[in-house]
Amino acid sequence: MTIDTAPVVAPDRVPGPVPAGQEADPGPGVGAGEPAAVLTDLKGLEPAELDALVVGMGQEPFRARQLQRWIYARGESDLAAMTDLAAGFRRQLGQVAYVSRLPLLATRVSATGTVAKFVFALAGGERIEAVYIADAGRRTACLSSQAGCPLACRFCATGRLGFRRNLTAAEIIDQLLQVGAWAAARGQRLSNVVMMGMGEPLLNYEPVLRAIRLMRLELGPAIGGRKITVSTAGYVPGIRRLAAEPLNVGLAISLHATTDEVRRQLMPIARGFTIAELLAAAREYFDRRGRRVTFEYVLLGGVNDADDDARRLAALTADLPCKLNLIPYNELGQDSPYRRPDPGRIDAFRRLLEAHSIHAVTVRDSQGQDIDAACGQLAGADPSLPHPSGGASGGVRGSV
Ligand code: SAH
Repeated sequence: MTIDTAPVVAPDRVPGPVPAGQEADPGPGVGAGEPAAVLTDLKGLEPAELDALVVGMGQEPFRARQLQRWIYARGESDLAAMTDLAAGFRRQLGQVAYVSRLPLLATRVSATGTVAKFVFALAGGERIEAVYIADAGRRTACLSSQAGCPLACRFCATGRLGFRRNLTAAEIIDQLLQVGAWAAARGQRLSNVVMMGMGEPLLNYEPVLRAIRLMRLELGPAIGGRKITVSTAGYVPGIRRLAAEPLNVGLAISLHATTDEVRRQLMPIARGFTIAELLAAAREYFDRRGRRVTFEYVLLGGVNDADDDARRLAALTADLPCKLNLIPYNELGQDSPYRRPDPGRIDAFRRLLEAHSIHAVTVRDSQGQDIDAACGQLAGADPSLPHPSGGASGGVRGSV
């Protein structure tokens, strides 16, 4: 493992948290020459909003495309560095707007060199994490949608933190831009995005959707909709809402149990929605979007990994076009009541499922456990951070 810590750098111009930042409509009030009460964060604005802002300042619309390229394709956040914009325009822009950038507190690279974890500071003091994962042909950014998480799944380190706050679209897309820049410096281009970091994306719906639209911009990160996956703990109204969007992103659903009783023990959200309701929402997603959903199933030794569970899982999903992704539990430390099944049990479960199911079954090889970057281990509590010297501390896995 290598650790590469960076000092906390405040963004150039921090006008305080921009309220509901990315809902931001620059509005007619932000015009040439008028003093802006609050600077508008350009990061998070969609192309039409950049147009409106630029035209409102008396500039040609193509200036908006230049800004778009700087912000979303080149990841630049310093207006002064946007050298193809006239100096006068840059100055004018600097009076009403800025481009936010999350301070990067630390980057940790796994021993294999194929996984990296990024810890970012949010305004207000919270920390969030993003992960880069390189595997067979794919280079994936795993992004957070919330600081902490309100859902309190019993087996998840983020769930133990409780809910801190929703991220803005700027904070979500910036994770992608910074992970992408890190990869680019190593000659890699991101191909996939999974909303599987901290938080429940469907409980921060508007900013997540806005960030997804930004990820897809050709003049920007240019990640195809089919390469973007939203993972939900099973918030049924959010799944229905997403099914109505013309985005065609992939949907992964954290199922994790084959009976409502066990699911309610593991995931408090299951008290609100039965497995039957969840499956109906998954069906609706497939019917409306034409995309098979993926069911994630974390394997917890002695809890949900019995032969009967494998058979029930196959039966529950029998008439639904889907994929089944088994995730051997990543242990969180001694105080965790759960354990990872032994490899023989994982294998037996997979074989039984394959024998009973017509669907593709995969076992997620969660990488990055040595840097607490694997599924369920993101807690924003990187043990290397308290040491300004940057010394590697080895780490307390899953410390929260
Ligand atoms: N809130 C979303 C996004 C999290 S995605 C969701 O619940 O789907 C992360 C995936 O890792 C989810 O399937 C989650 O249930 C799973 N997970 C959480 N803790 C885990 C752990 N300790 N080991 C393995 N998987 C875990």
